[in-house]
Amino acid sequence: MGKVTGFQEYDRKMPEKLSPAERVKNYNEFESLYSDEELNKQSARCMDCGIPFCHSGCPLGNIIPEFNDAVYHHKWEEAYLILASTNNFPEFTGRICPAPCESACVLGIHRPPVAIEEIEKHIIEIAYQKNLVKPVAPLIKTGKTVAVVGSGPAGLAAAAQLSKAGHEVTVYERDDKIGGLLRYGIPDFKMEKWVIDRRLEVMEKDGVVFKTNTEIGKDIAADELTRNFDAVVLTGGSTIPRDLPIPGRELKGIYFAMDFLKQQNKRVGNSPITAEDILATGKDVVVIGGGDTGSDCVGTSNRQKANSVKQFEVMFQPPEKRTPHMPWPTYPMVLKTTTSHEEGVERHWGINTKEFLGDENGNLRALRIADVSWETDFLGRPVKFSEVEGSEREIPCQRVFLAMGFLNPQYTGMLESLGVELDARKNVNAKEGIYRTNVSKVFAAGDMRRGQSLVVWAISEGRECARKVDEFLMGHSVLESKDSVNQFDQVFN
Ligand SMILES: Cc1cc2nc3c(=O)[nH]c(=O)nc-3n(C[C@H](O)[C@H](O)[C@H](O)COP(=O)(O)OP(=O)(O)OC[C@H]3O[C@@H](n4cnc5c(N)ncnc54)[C@H](O)[C@@H]3O)c2cc1C
Ligand code: SF4
Repeated sequence: MGKVTGFQEYDRKMPEKLSPAERVKNYNEFESLYSDEELNKQSARCMDCGIPFCHSGCPLGNIIPEFNDAVYHHKWEEAYLILASTNNFPEFTGRICPAPCESACVLGIHRPPVAIEEIEKHIIEIAYQKNLVKPVAPLIKTGKTVAVVGSGPAGLAAAAQLSKAGHEVTVYERDDKIGGLLRYGIPDFKMEKWVIDRRLEVMEKDGVVFKTNTEIGKDIAADELTRNFDAVVLTGGSTIPRDLPIPGRELKGIYFAMDFLKQQNKRVGNSPITAEDILATGKDVVVIGGGDTGSDCVGTSNRQKANSVKQFEVMFQPPEKRTPHMPWPTYPMVLKTTTSHEEGVERHWGINTKEFLGDENGNLRALRIADVSWETDFLGRPVKFSEVEGSEREIPCQRVFLAMGFLNPQYTGMLESLGVELDARKNVNAKEGIYRTNVSKVFAAGDMRRGQSLVVWAISEGRECARKVDEFLMGHSVLESKDSVNQFDQVFN
């Protein structure tokens, strides 16, 4: 434990951010790093709990009190090694994770939790500065080959781990650049893309081969992979967006969030855009969907200088604090105000969009909406809604971005030709802890298996799946699993 009285002496403090007015001028990240002194204080807040609930809150099982202690004592290499033992990409999670570890932090019972995510980001940035992030693949290879399809965080984590185990790994990606939603979903203002490129350089030195502009099931037949590789890992993500099939859906000006966000990331990354431009500039924008993807549309619309931005959510407004139904250490479904919201948006809850209205040229001109009220069950969960009488009205708008989540992975093409079985939710049926599909030597992980989720879960799935692939290829695995946490506890204590 860094400092016994640290949690009593120091308050949680977040690094400085540029003002909303400044940051909407471009797509850059806008958060600075802590000073050395502040980083030391923040790490000193960790109580080194006897039962560190932060571990169990983290899907990767990050060994948090140990790295907090190492940071406090300026043991940068030790902090990095502890963190890297459970997380291949702390530079991603340190920037964009919703930090379930912090929701589970024991200090959070009566004070603001330890700033674990920020500390994680600092450890990895310092490790890069000090040239501690090095290739780890063994010189002697196993002679086994693995194809990974999809280069999002799940595919990259699986590839990194499999290469660490000594296998020859090739990652196939249908887009023109590697990264999945890290590259072409999450906006640059949340994570600049040099962060991915810097990591890819390390992975290439490790021997991982990346093939872009290659769709499996189209450019290369899926069974070619099963013939030519000893194992195949499917990490193609959950890519089919939820639609809103109400009257007027065919009007011009209504887009899926991902079409809008991907284009902007391509613009920032100087990648060619082949479709028509989708821009919010000068438009009255309504984002339908109150989640993170919706919030990214808000931030992007403001940067494109939209005339006005509204965000509609059909569910009721979440509470500001934990309720008895969401006690510590569960992840609380409370009201979240993101940095994009701070930049300017009108947020509305309990809104049902009933019709898109167009002008004589087939362009969107307004939405017909109504307020709804919700019936909830004894746990406060929504059961059904009914329209508030007399609340129907028109809202002028020329751009709508549909951000209501993703249904399941694309079945046509790769999954269909492989004959992969799906589960009841139409995700790939490969059970957690096993990660094997019904097709011989084919495994699956990430959003493609789990359904739409988070980067931290994708990394966790990629790692655990790699371990199962390694076991399948070699009879046993040399890779760590979440269960190795205790072994590291012993090494570092
Ligand atoms: C707009 C947006 C913002 C988000 N923000 C956050 C956030 O802030 N924090 C967070 O934790 N999570 C966030 N998420 C969720 C997170 O990005 C995903 O859960 C995560 O990226 C899933 O990782 P994955 O590797 O399973 O799949 P993906 O990242 O979706 O990657 C799958 C890749 O597979 C490729 N692919 C698919 N089929 C084929 C094929 N047949 N051949 C070749 N390649 C193929 C796709 O092109 C894609 O690149 C966000 C999601 C979206 C959409
Ligand atoms: S729960 Fe919070 S205070 Fe306790 S060990 Fe984890 S980070 Fe430190």
